[in-house]
Amino acid sequence: MAGLSAAVRARELGATPVVYEKGTRPGGSMLVSSCVIWRFREWDDFRAECPAGDEALQRLVWERLDDGIAWLESLGAPVVEHDTGNPRTIGKRFDPRGLTETLVRAAGDVRLESLDAEPTILATGGFQGNAELVAEHIHPGGTLRLRANPWSSGDGLRYALARGAELSAGLGEFYGRNMPDAAFSEQEFVPLAQLYGRFARVYNERGEEFFSGEVSWSENDLVQATAQQPGARAWYVLDDDALARRVRDRTVADVVALAPTRVDPVDLPFATPPEARVAVRVSPGITHTIGGLRVDDRARVVGVDGLFAAGADVGGISTGGYASGLAAALVFGRLAAESALHRT
Ligand SMILES: Cc1cc2nc3c(=O)[nH]c(=O)nc-3n(C[C@H](O)[C@H](O)[C@H](O)COP(=O)(O)OP(=O)(O)OC[C@H]3O[C@@H](n4cnc5c(N)ncnc54)[C@H](O)[C@@H]3O)c2cc1C
Repeated sequence: MAGLSAAVRARELGATPVVYEKGTRPGGSMLVSSCVIWRFREWDDFRAECPAGDEALQRLVWERLDDGIAWLESLGAPVVEHDTGNPRTIGKRFDPRGLTETLVRAAGDVRLESLDAEPTILATGGFQGNAELVAEHIHPGGTLRLRANPWSSGDGLRYALARGAELSAGLGEFYGRNMPDAAFSEQEFVPLAQLYGRFARVYNERGEEFFSGEVSWSENDLVQATAQQPGARAWYVLDDDALARRVRDRTVADVVALAPTRVDPVDLPFATPPEARVAVRVSPGITHTIGGLRVDDRARVVGVDGLFAAGADVGGISTGGYASGLAAALVFGRLAAESALHRT
């Protein structure tokens, strides 16, 4: 998302940018995403929900996103829904394929090859695809399953660090979803997400209820806590009330029915409440990293002259919580192009 947005903006400003794409197709994780591009409706909510994020960077996303969305629409990107369905956020859901095609067309020169020269703007999508870096910073016990494009393996981060870049806060944080603890395909990233932990009793493999307090609406806090449990696993234990709750357009029971790791609670190796009906073994899928390179309010990589970064390569925007990765990629992609061309 960020690289294509930067290229489109750069071309609008009269440059002739080239996007180098390492994968077998353009679009990165954007193409397989739910494609809701959003911000918190209220600025104070953004600060409260992502309290450790860099306030200046957050302010840019919050103030510039509506313009960015209007810009996507002006390019012809197809909108599927004109609101997010979440009262605390504002934004639009795009068709991911249509959005990718629109940006690729407008970017003009997208090459499926790696760059062997110096990049101007880093937009490689974070380091979730690099098992070593994930084990080092996020999940000390080992790897987490990838719920994202397979090519974002920290190339931008390593390139910039080797040239003296600084890191943002929150390197140990990530955005992800608890998924059934079984293999899943790219087409199952969205439908198999077990996004009902807030209605469940949640245990680790030792039978401990490890999450204290209320689970957030995004459940990203619960997902991150699960990553720190033995085996990076949890059990969601549900009663009839929980199964009847709704998650977007489905009931919890509908989502549970898709999970191959559901079992009868009596088969668990620890005691569960007598009203428990079903248990689902879950484990996090990592979608993108939250920590990364430190940039300033012009998308300049701090510590490296003349280098810019955008998207999940930039850290410190949603630190401490969760905010739209597509929104940050869109805003910082455009900003990086403007800064690189001295138009800010
Ligand atoms: C299932 C799923 C659902 C999601 N739903 C939402 C949602 O509804 N709303 C939301 O805001 N976010 C959502 N996201 C997250 C969102 O997709 C990301 O935050 C966003 O795509 C990040 O933008 P990016 O440009 O940093 O990375 P990407 O869009 O992933 O693009 C990075 C690109 O860099 C390429 N690359 C990597 N290394 C190199 C290299 N060395 N050279 C050249 N190219 C390289 C990759 O192949 C990739 O194409 C979702 C993600 C997934 C997987």
